[in-house]
Amino acid sequence: MKHIPKQRFIIFLFLLVTFCYTEQQPSAQEQKSSNLDSIFLQASGKINYLTGRYEASSVHTELKDISGTKNHYLLPEVAKQWTAMVAAYEREKSKDSRQSIFLVSSFRSFNQQKSIWEAKYSGQRKMRETVKGKTPEEIVDLILEFSSAPGTSRHHWGTDLDLNALENSYFEKGGKGFEIYSWLSANAKRFGFCQPYNAKSLRNNKGYEEEKWHWSYKPISSSLRKMWISEYQSKSLQLSGYNGVEIMNSKALDYVSEISSECK
Ligand SMILES: [Zn+2]
Repeated sequence: MKHIPKQRFIIFLFLLVTFCYTEQQPSAQEQKSSNLDSIFLQASGKINYLTGRYEASSVHTELKDISGTKNHYLLPEVAKQWTAMVAAYEREKSKDSRQSIFLVSSFRSFNQQKSIWEAKYSGQRKMRETVKGKTPEEIVDLILEFSSAPGTSRHHWGTDLDLNALENSYFEKGGKGFEIYSWLSANAKRFGFCQPYNAKSLRNNKGYEEEKWHWSYKPISSSLRKMWISEYQSKSLQLSGYNGVEIMNSKALDYVSEISSECK
């Protein structure tokens, strides 16, 4: 009889500790949004962050590219998962494979995206067709085949990256990156990555063309995409500051929304 109250006391203590512990732990969702809030703070606000108007080094982790010369920037969690994924590929690839996975492009600021956009808009940077004789709308559509307009790029978010080669054929059968692409298709999700621009026919034939080189860290980019859409719809996020922006205003939403269902 003597030890029964003691047992009860232990059970009481156990329940108390469990209750307190559960109370103090934020839910995964709360944790996520508070992480994003602190990221936005570092980038001087949500809209600046979503549109790439901030200093990468104040928010992101710096990574070197394969040659060790160019700096890449990704959010710390994304950089960590990327590094783990690249290492896993090295362990799991076939013995005769000489290819590795490497970064070609990662974070791009509004201004970097603007210089790509304007070089294409003016015809300085070559595209599939010349800009000569085209209307502004035709030029914008041509650029949008493979480049985003400033303020609408997923590369502003520190969650998205381009790897190895900017051509689909590299990743297809007979291409050097076929094994990499097959491995990523099966395994990238283990590390949180997905391919937002898959076959266009799977995305209502809207948005960008397929990009087998562009991968995104879904646990964060999924929330950022939803925020971008809602801020744009409420007009808190407005596009400005480059050639063709008035045409872009009627197209931006489709280009940001229409991605593969696995990345949403
Ligand atoms: Zn890309």
